[in-house]
Amino acid sequence: MKPHRIRMTHNLLLNYGLYRKMEIYRPHKANLEEMTKYHSDDYIKFLKTIRPDNMSEYTKQMQRFNVGEDCPVFDGLFEFCQLSTGGSIAGAVKLNKQQTDIAVNWAGGLHHAKKSEASGFCYVNDIVLAILELLKYHQRVLYIDIDIHHGDGVEEAFYTTDRVMTVSFHKYGEYFPGTGDLRDIGAGKGKYYAVNFPLRDGIDDESYEQIFNPVVSKVMEVYKPNAVVLQCGADSLAGDRLGCFNLSLKGHAQCVNFVKKFNLPLLILGGGGYTIRNVARCWTFETAVALDSDIANELPYNDYFEYFGPDFKLHISPSNMANQNTTDYLEKIKQRLFENLRMLPHAPGVQMHPIPDDAPVLEESDNEDDMESDRRISIRASDKHVAHQEEYSDSEDEGDNRRDVHHVKEVKRSRKRAKGSATPVEKMVQNGVENTVNEDSKSSVVSNENSSKPSTSPAEEKEKPKSSTSTPKEGSPQTVASVTAEVSTEPAPEQEASRKSPEVAEGPPASKDGDTEEAMEVEDSEAPTNTEGDTSSNADVPDASNSVKSNSPKPTEEEEKEKAPQTEESEETEKEEDTKMEH
Ligand SMILES: [Zn+2]
Repeated sequence: MKPHRIRMTHNLLLNYGLYRKMEIYRPHKANLEEMTKYHSDDYIKFLKTIRPDNMSEYTKQMQRFNVGEDCPVFDGLFEFCQLSTGGSIAGAVKLNKQQTDIAVNWAGGLHHAKKSEASGFCYVNDIVLAILELLKYHQRVLYIDIDIHHGDGVEEAFYTTDRVMTVSFHKYGEYFPGTGDLRDIGAGKGKYYAVNFPLRDGIDDESYEQIFNPVVSKVMEVYKPNAVVLQCGADSLAGDRLGCFNLSLKGHAQCVNFVKKFNLPLLILGGGGYTIRNVARCWTFETAVALDSDIANELPYNDYFEYFGPDFKLHISPSNMANQNTTDYLEKIKQRLFENLRMLPHAPGVQMHPIPDDAPVLEESDNEDDMESDRRISIRASDKHVAHQEEYSDSEDEGDNRRDVHHVKEVKRSRKRAKGSATPVEKMVQNGVENTVNEDSKSSVVSNENSSKPSTSPAEEKEKPKSSTSTPKEGSPQTVASVTAEVSTEPAPEQEASRKSPEVAEGPPASKDGDTEEAMEVEDSEAPTNTEGDTSSNADVPDASNSVKSNSPKPTEEEEKEKAPQTEESEETEKEEDTKMEH
C-alpha cells in the first residue's frame, strides 16, 4: 500500500521549497493502546491481525467490522493506520505544547471510521483520536469538514457532547455515506453542537465562500473554540473522480485561509481526493496558504512531473457544470443553521481536572524506524536533501539520508490509568480528557474558572486576545507542522501558562501564539503516543446519535466509485491505491 497522493503532495511541496518554512516530523506509529482510546479493543486487534493471506480464517469478523469490500484488506493495512493516526495525534500534541501554531497531516482526515467498524476506506479515525488529545488541553474543539462526504465518523463520536462542535459541508442526497441531514444537530448535551450543511451538485467557489465564511464566523462567535481541526478532503474539487462539486484550488483553500485567520491552534488534515494530481496540487497550495507563502502557478520540476501535464500548472479550472445550489437554497439552509446556533446558551465550560499525560512519543517501537522516529528533520540543514525527501512522506524506508536530523526530545511520561466506569461521552467530559488542569499550572488559570464565556476571561485576554474573537484577523504569522506533515512552531514562552492549563470551567482557551512561522511535517513519527486511558472512554459513541440521525439511503463508496467515470488516464495502479485511501 502506497499512499501515492501523499507522496506526490510531499514531493511537490518540497520542490516548491516550502519545507524551508516548516518543521517536518516523522510521525510515530500509533499503537494499539492509543487507538483504543476511541476504538474498541477487539476491532483494533482485528486490524492488527488481518492480512491478505489469513483472511479466510476471519470471515465472520470481517463482516462484523465491515472489512473486505469497500474497505479491503491489503498488505500493510495496520501500518498505514498507525502512520496516519500517529501523525494526527502528533500534530495535536505539538499544538497542545504550543510548539506550533498549525499542524498538518495530509495522511490523516479519515473521517468515516467508526468505533468498531471500517467505512469508506477509513479504518482508524485519526481525527477523533487527535481531538481527544486536544481535549486534554482545550475546553472546546471545533471540527470543520470540507470533504465532499459527510464527516459521519467524527460527528458520531462527539454527537452527545458540547466539548466538540462538528461542522460538515457536504453533498447530501443519494450520496455516501447518506448521513448529514440538516436536522441532525446533536443529542443530549450535544444538542446543537453538530452542524450539517447539505449541498447539491456543482457548488462553485463563490457559492461555497458565501456559506462557509458566515457559518464558520457564527460558530466562532457563539462557540468560541479553543482549537480547530480542519479536514480538507480534496474530493470536493472540480474534476474529482468521485466527487460532484466544482471548486478550484482557490475556492477550497479559501476555507483554510479563512479558518487560519482566527488564530486558534489549528490541526489541518487530509481526507478524500481521487484525482490524485489535483489532490497533490490542492494540499501543496494549502500548505503554502498555511505558511502565508505565495507559490508560482508554474509547477517546479518534481518526481511526478508528468502527472501534471499537459499544462504543468498549479491551479485548475472549474468546469462548466451547473451549480444546483441556488442562492435561495443556500441562504435558506444558512438561516436554518443560524437559528440552531442561536439556541446555544453560551460557550460551554467544564470542570477542572488534572491534565492527563500527553501522548507518549514513540516508544515502543515495533519498527525499524524507531531509531529515526524520534528525530526531527532540521529544515535548514536539510535543504540540500530535497531530492531524497520524497521518502519522508510515505511509509517506505527512510533511513539513510537523514543525517541532518536531530533528536527531538519528548519526554516519555508514565501513564496512569484511571479507568472509570463512566459512560462514553460523559466520561469523556469528566475524565481527564476534558479539562484538566495540572496541579502546578492551576494558578495561571484561576481567573477563568467562573467565567461563562471563556473567550473573554481575563486570563485569556492576557494570553492572547486573538483567539477569542469571531472575526478573522489578518496578518499574524503562524507556524506550521504536519504528520504527513505537521506544522510546528517554536514554543512561545508567553504561552506557557495557558498551555499547561487546560481549560477549566469555562476557562479561557489555551491560546497559541503563534508568531513563529515554521511548519513541520510529521512524517512518520515523533509524535507522542498517548497514554492515558481515561480518555478512551470519552469517545464512546452515544447511542442516542443513532436514533436521532436521519435514515437516508446510503450508497456505498463502491457504488460511487463504480458510477464515477474513470477520467484519469495514467496511473491505474496509483489510482487504485488512492481510491482506497480515504475519503
Ligand atoms: Zn470524501
